[in-house]
Amino acid sequence: MPSKYQPPEGRVVQGFSFALDPTDEQMVLINRFFGARRFAFNWALSQIKDSIEHHRATCESTTAPSFYSLRKQWNTEKNTVCANDETGEVWWTDISKEVFADGVRGANDAYWRWQKSRKGMIAGQPVGFPRFKKRGRDRDRFSFTTGAMRLESDRRHLTLPVLGTIRTHENTRRLERLIVLDRAKVLGVTVSRHGDRIIAAVRVSIVRPQQAGVSQPDSVVGVDVGVRRLATVATVDTVIAELANPRALEGRLKELRLLQRQRSRRTRGSRQYLVATQKIARLYADAALIRQHTFHVFTTNLAKTHGVIVVEGLDASAMLKQKSLPGARSRRRGLSDAALGEIRRQLRYKCPWYGSTLIEADRFFPSSKTCHDCGHVQDIGWSEQWNCEECSSSHQRDDNAAINLARWASLGSVGAPVKRGAEHQTESHSAAGEDTRKGGLESFRPNNSVRRAT
Ligand SMILES: [Zn+2]
Repeated sequence: MPSKYQPPEGRVVQGFSFALDPTDEQMVLINRFFGARRFAFNWALSQIKDSIEHHRATCESTTAPSFYSLRKQWNTEKNTVCANDETGEVWWTDISKEVFADGVRGANDAYWRWQKSRKGMIAGQPVGFPRFKKRGRDRDRFSFTTGAMRLESDRRHLTLPVLGTIRTHENTRRLERLIVLDRAKVLGVTVSRHGDRIIAAVRVSIVRPQQAGVSQPDSVVGVDVGVRRLATVATVDTVIAELANPRALEGRLKELRLLQRQRSRRTRGSRQYLVATQKIARLYADAALIRQHTFHVFTTNLAKTHGVIVVEGLDASAMLKQKSLPGARSRRRGLSDAALGEIRRQLRYKCPWYGSTLIEADRFFPSSKTCHDCGHVQDIGWSEQWNCEECSSSHQRDDNAAINLARWASLGSVGAPVKRGAEHQTESHSAAGEDTRKGGLESFRPNNSVRRAT
């Protein structure tokens, strides 16, 4: 199992992203690297599959795949694997060896994630057996972990192995100055495509400045991530902040729907279809960046301000809920689930930075459908506004949920009211999980000595 990198005492791992502005020659090379990573991934995956098949057929014990053995094998075979069929010319020499290593590592990690998942060691949705990568269906990317990686002192260039010095769209000051001060050290760089942009994510181990602590240590807030509103922040008795969908994002989403409809009327594979596809990709990437930025500003502010922050915990039944909803609504819901996941992820690492405490409420805590006035739980469906059947007080969905979440901080340990359907949901989820794990190659365990009658 690859072990996770642990930074030395007093340092944390942090990522800094910069949009790149490569020359045409560099872009050609970057595109080749993207393909080469996929090539190495697929090669490594087929080695793993072959070894499983071999074990199945002969019952001979095979060694479990490892990054080191696969990479060693790659190095002995690359001259035949990477040879042009007609000319016999070897093409791996043009590509950084780090790119191939990254592909091999990706396949090995994917295999082990699958193994861990089926042993129940990974929370959430079951992870399937890795599939072969295909251009267009796989995020274009590659990583460097060694070699010449540095930010140039002009703060407008980034140097990477084989690719050389690439101009950045924005100033790299926010990271470059930390490196000069020896407060940050580059661990690796991942180059990937986002829409029509090439982004370099620089992973550094960094000494975070000592923080003065949160500004309101006694403040306890609940954060509800909603469908119509991005987020609502409340104390135990009142709403204190709302995060609306940024207008720039709303505009992009509207344009996106328009373009998608337009594209649907064009012939698949035609020139105009391609143009629309590129525009859509750009809009998606744009929207994602706007959302990401909004979330970062929001979570940093929360973590710097409040002593305790409560968010909804992992929701295993989210998938089931989503299925039962029609079209556009379920997509919106999916978007807010993703938003919740991202906000939670950011708070998980930011809260310790600023000295705030993050509490994740039980995933079956019915924060939306519990009346915060009397504690009555009722089914409210998808309504924005609802009235309590018990005390007839009127509630706004997100406001009520955020207040309930804030209360969870003191309630959680005692035991919150659990919705009656909760047990049912757990059951049906695990049943659905079992189904996807069974059958085919997935059910085969190459590591265990399973005897088969042949
Ligand atoms: Zn009530």
